[in-house]
Amino acid sequence: MISVEDALRNILDAVDVLGLEKVNILSALGRVIGEDVFSGRAIPPKDNSAMDGYAVRSMDVFGASEKNPILLDVIEDLPAGSVSRETIGKGQAARIMTGAYVPEGADAVIPVEETKKEDKRVVIFSGVQTGENIRFAGEDVQTGELVIQKGEILRPAHIGMLASLGRSFVFVHQKPLIAVVSSGDELADIDEPSPLKIVSSNSYSLAALILACGAVPMQMGIAKDRREDLIEKFRAAMRADLILSSGGVSVGDFDLVKDVMKQKGNQMNFWQVAMKPGQPLAFGSLENVPVIGLPGNPVSSMISFEQFARPAILKMMGHKNIFRKTVTARLTEDIHKKPGKRHFIRGIIKQDATGYTARTTGEQGSGILKSMVMANGLIILPPELTKAGTGEEVTVQLLDDSLHMTFQPGFPQLQVGQ
Ligand code: AMP
Ligand code: MG
Repeated sequence: MISVEDALRNILDAVDVLGLEKVNILSALGRVIGEDVFSGRAIPPKDNSAMDGYAVRSMDVFGASEKNPILLDVIEDLPAGSVSRETIGKGQAARIMTGAYVPEGADAVIPVEETKKEDKRVVIFSGVQTGENIRFAGEDVQTGELVIQKGEILRPAHIGMLASLGRSFVFVHQKPLIAVVSSGDELADIDEPSPLKIVSSNSYSLAALILACGAVPMQMGIAKDRREDLIEKFRAAMRADLILSSGGVSVGDFDLVKDVMKQKGNQMNFWQVAMKPGQPLAFGSLENVPVIGLPGNPVSSMISFEQFARPAILKMMGHKNIFRKTVTARLTEDIHKKPGKRHFIRGIIKQDATGYTARTTGEQGSGILKSMVMANGLIILPPELTKAGTGEEVTVQLLDDSLHMTFQPGFPQLQVGQ
């Protein structure tokens, strides 16, 4: 039996970062960019107005005020997007809208609120500094500037920036294809008419977890507890970048996943991890394709996915931050455990003005999938610990990324179901 850390290290060492593919910028949202993006242009390309008003020569309106208004001739009208052909001379101004390029000769913009139009002239009631109310060429991005670095996750602002730079395609890390093979004679698919069989919920929860990582699930269906059947499903799964199996890794007579890993040409790196739930995890490879043999119990398979498969998949996709956020929370109930294994206890985590609190979801059996439905975090108790009491601080792994954002000072917490 190995520790969670050693198991994780072994799995992460065995998976590689995938290569790049060229995708449309909108499809690149949330993905990891595989190229440095330099700007081939200045943004904005020319000095333009930050206000609706009048483009002027600042020296012409020096000292202007309500008591000392200055009169200028308006020689043209510049809506957004227009390019002036005139030069603003002494005593002249141009009507200008936000975003319009500042004409030659002008060096500032007077906001419309500080002016009064009089036929072909304008009365100016305030002075301006040189450059005031002008957005300068290149003030956002300069030509040749490194704007997005290889390895960044592309968020909506990045997509907008790529568009501004004139890029419609970008190179990102590929999405891994992850096969899910469920095994067990007791299992049936959702619509199979077999009332006493257990629906292979893992086929769906695991596929959903894969989707939530941004990877592509490939559901291989259910293998019977026969060596040939398992091998056949595994063979079909071998075009994937990673195979996840569920079930068949315990110590029972029909737990055949390990046997297949031990066959010639394949490999089993380790079996059994000092954790609860999820102890009977096996990791190895079929020829060169890595296989994580997850336990069959619905909670165990999901928690093992969270601890091992998710970081591995995120690594494959080029991510640098591959672990869930952890926080310290105060327990609001006592938890007892046996020493020896790291426990991952399904928890309900809340945030208030003083920090995080955590309580358990109740019954912690590894078949209680409802505990995962209720949980928004995992309370992690170290192997040696036997008790964590009310008020003690524990480490919590947040399963819901938005959790730390739900508390807004001054607003009541919204409750689910209301
Ligand atoms: P195993 O790891 O094969 O011994 O499976 C342990 C238990 O997990 C079984 O008795 C089933 O009740 C349950 N189980 C196994 N595979 C699945 C699955 N694909 N979906 C839901 N439950 C499963
Ligand atoms: Mg089984």
